Amino acid sequence: MIRLKRIAVESANTALVRRPLLVAMALFLIATSAEADQFAVDLDSVLPTVRATYSYFHENPELGKAETKAHDFLLERLEAIGGFGFVKIESLPTAIVAVMDTGQAGPVIALRSELDARKLNPGQVEPSEHQPRSLLDGFMHNCGHDVHAAILLGTAELVARHRDRFLGKIVFIFQPAEEVAGGADDIVKEGILDQLKIEAVFALHSAPGLAVGSIAIAPGSVLAGSSYFTLNLTGKSSHAAAPFGGSDIPMLAAELAQSLSYLPARKVDIANRPMVISVTRLKAESSASNSLPSDAEIGGTIRAFEDPFIAADGAQSINAMITDLTARFAAANNVAANWSLRPGAPPTRNDEGLFQRIVPKLQGAWPGTVATAAWRGMFSEDFAYYTAKRPSLYFSLGIAKDGLGQAGVHTVDFTIHPDSFVEGVRLMSLAARIATTGEATWN
Ligand SMILES: [Zn+2]
Ligand SMILES: [Zn+2]
Repeated sequence: MIRLKRIAVESANTALVRRPLLVAMALFLIATSAEADQFAVDLDSVLPTVRATYSYFHENPELGKAETKAHDFLLERLEAIGGFGFVKIESLPTAIVAVMDTGQAGPVIALRSELDARKLNPGQVEPSEHQPRSLLDGFMHNCGHDVHAAILLGTAELVARHRDRFLGKIVFIFQPAEEVAGGADDIVKEGILDQLKIEAVFALHSAPGLAVGSIAIAPGSVLAGSSYFTLNLTGKSSHAAAPFGGSDIPMLAAELAQSLSYLPARKVDIANRPMVISVTRLKAESSASNSLPSDAEIGGTIRAFEDPFIAADGAQSINAMITDLTARFAAANNVAANWSLRPGAPPTRNDEGLFQRIVPKLQGAWPGTVATAAWRGMFSEDFAYYTAKRPSLYFSLGIAKDGLGQAGVHTVDFTIHPDSFVEGVRLMSLAARIATTGEATWN
């Protein structure tokens, strides 16, 4: 921007005498540049809020639906900023839904962040060199929800201070429990979208490996839906020296775990029905190492872009396929198998119409890269519940710089480069500006 301004001034000086057209162009560039600079100044003004919020959240990780410190911190800040109306959600007391009414007619849009941290695997702690670092061993914000909440609070402050640059109402949803069931789905079930007449929903997520300054978004279904299974096997125990005398349950469980994992690759038209089945829990334990147990439990998750209970075009659903597989396996091995599948989030879908309305303008105003190449992941995200009800966009935010922001989410090495804070606020505030006014410029 600084370079742009200097070129503009030089052009103006030389062109004053001979080229009226150049003068006009230069004045336009100066105006655009000044406008952009004002946006930069406004963005910078909320960074202390973002930094303080990020540090506080990161040091105080709280699990889903228990985000009381986070709730109190945000509420206090939002009340101090002023101008927000609050909507309580009885079933989700740590949620904050803050409504900024610009006083001007216009659409109602929502910006959403998560609040919850994660429990680490047994024995894991956040590395000591991380700055800030979790004050609670065994718990960590390693999905970026701390920075998402901090960015949303910074955006709320920016919108509140410059509400004349927006139209309609902007709803800030600080949503609990993304990592566990009952966050976004509860907010949707409670009818908040209908009650507030929200027309579109926007969110961002930290993207490890994506450079700071870059954002990525593709239209259509971008993240898979999730479902979770438990499969119990029951047979006959025996002495370990005589597996032929019983069901040899640990080996059967291992075999079945493999069959489940192979199923998408070998039994499904994988090109047209992308799916992955992962066994994440395999338990078969006896009280003594010389006896074979009678029971085993296999647990895990299915990720797919289709409903696991309903298949298109008369094909067998994933659930029906596995029900058949386990029934045949149980009969062949003379054991009992009990399969159950619990639905999780639907696929996350970026609405094509909203994408066309927002993203080209965002690209025009964004100083870095906006990648829009087709991309899909088998990850799952509860933002999907909003996308199933309203046109929505889910952006990936670059967090990688100087060695930070490379490690994957849900790992203890997960970090974020703080230079991504300003980009997050830029993204959320520009999305709100474009969605409510149609303008991507700041003034
Ligand atoms: Zn996560
Ligand atoms: Zn996350």
